[in-house]
Parts: sequence; C-alpha cells; structure tokens
Amino acid sequence: MIEIPEAITLAAQLNETVKGKTIQNLVADSSPHKFTWYYGNIEDYAALAIGKRVEAANAYNGRVLVELDGAELDLNDGAFPRYHEPDAKLPAKHQLLVEFTDGSAITATVAMYGGIGVYAKGGNDDNVYLKAAKEAVSPLSEEFDFKFFTNLLNDKTAKLSAKAFLATEQRIPGLGNGVLHDILLNANIHPKKKMNTLTDAQFSDLFASVKSTLREMTELGGRDVTRDLYGNPGGYVTMLSKNNKLLICPRCGGAVTKETYLGGSVYYCSHCQKL
Ligand SMILES: [Zn+2]
Repeated sequence: MIEIPEAITLAAQLNETVKGKTIQNLVADSSPHKFTWYYGNIEDYAALAIGKRVEAANAYNGRVLVELDGAELDLNDGAFPRYHEPDAKLPAKHQLLVEFTDGSAITATVAMYGGIGVYAKGGNDDNVYLKAAKEAVSPLSEEFDFKFFTNLLNDKTAKLSAKAFLATEQRIPGLGNGVLHDILLNANIHPKKKMNTLTDAQFSDLFASVKSTLREMTELGGRDVTRDLYGNPGGYVTMLSKNNKLLICPRCGGAVTKETYLGGSVYYCSHCQKL
C-alpha cells in the first residue's frame, strides 16, 4: 500500500515526469475491479480533468494528490501510479489511464484494494480519510517531536497495543501495516505490547524509531515491497515483510512469527521484541 515513504517518492517522481503537462484523455474503470473505490462520479472524471494542466503532485501523508488547475486527482492505498513514455506499451488492464498531450501517460492498476478520485479542488475534503491526511502533522516534520508523540497518548490510547496505537484510527495517517513492522523491530517492541506497559526508555525508542525508520524508507525511495512510478522496487530493504520469505530475523537470526492481528499480517521476532 502507499504509505508515507511511497507517497513522497511517487509525488516527487510525478513532478519529474508530468508536472506542467496537459491532460488529453482520461479513462477510469476500464477494467472493473471489486476492491477499487472511486470517489464521486466516474462519469464526471473526464470533464474535470481533460484540458487541465498538472500544477504539482503532493504527498499528504499516505496519499498522493495530483493538483490540476481547478481539480485534484487522488491516489491512495493500492492505487499505485505508473508512468509511461510516449509510444510505450500500456498495460492491458488498468483502473485509471491519464494521457497527456505529449503522448506520455500514467496508469493506475490496483492489486489488492485502492482508492482513486478526480474531483473539483477541495471537493472531497469532507472525506474523513482525506481530511485526516491533509491536516495531519507528518512524522517526518520537526513539528512531530517527542512532545507531539507523547500527546497522542491518553487514557484511552494508553490501553492499546503498539500496533493499534501507531497504525489505526488515523492517529498517524500514512503509517500503516506496511511500515509498521520495521518501526517496531527497530524499537524492539512487540506489536501486541500494550502502550501503558512500555518503560519510559521503550517509549522514547519507539518515538525515535518512528522518525528514523520512516526517514530511511523515504530517503531510499520507498520499501522494496512496493514499486515506484517507473516500476522499480523501492530501495529500502524491508526486514519484516512478505519479502522475508525464510522468516528469519535479520538482526538476531531467530525465527520471525507471522500472524494475523488487527486486520492484516504482523511480523515480529519474539527474541528481539519481547511481549
Ligand atoms: Zn530478532
């Protein structure tokens, strides 16, 4: 899924490739996909986008928003965009195709689930997820400091597990079940460990790991389990992910556990991450 490191990488690559270009054609839902949700009316998309110029692409935590003059193109979750040079062969199946006047194009093909939208500027700001993503303080920003992180803890959230605290309820938009595992391994914290059982040192380690792990993932162009705008895997080699096929902890050599917990798989090393 597109999370913070991937959204930043994709937005930068969209600015390199399509910023300033004018949209000549847009096709949505040409290959219907059960788990792709489209915001607003698909029938309106072409009229909103055709003839518009790409002003900029921005990452709002885990979302990529391509700003057009007067409209926005929104890509999130598994709606990864891919760039195609003029005359390049386009994928046979896609959920979104945007063609530019110079012959280049962008497609989005959703693997598991994803969201796509084209709407008038600000037209989807009532959407709670988009609103949260736009307004949230990025963990990569200076404003997201130790005090900010501590303020996320209250009577209710202190009872949550580390996974629930970090990756649910839009507390930290764009920090999802993808980036979570390496953040927790770097902090030596078990995903099921309750926040109110962490020592002060563990809580500090968790804060530091949120910042440093996300920064490293971003600087390296996203995680290796996702693909960038050019179809290349991200440069950050994940420690705990589906790519760790042998389920061996890269830090201690012990066995990694993979199990379903709170929607989605969690990976952890019970030697490095004691419950
Ligand atoms: Zn380990």
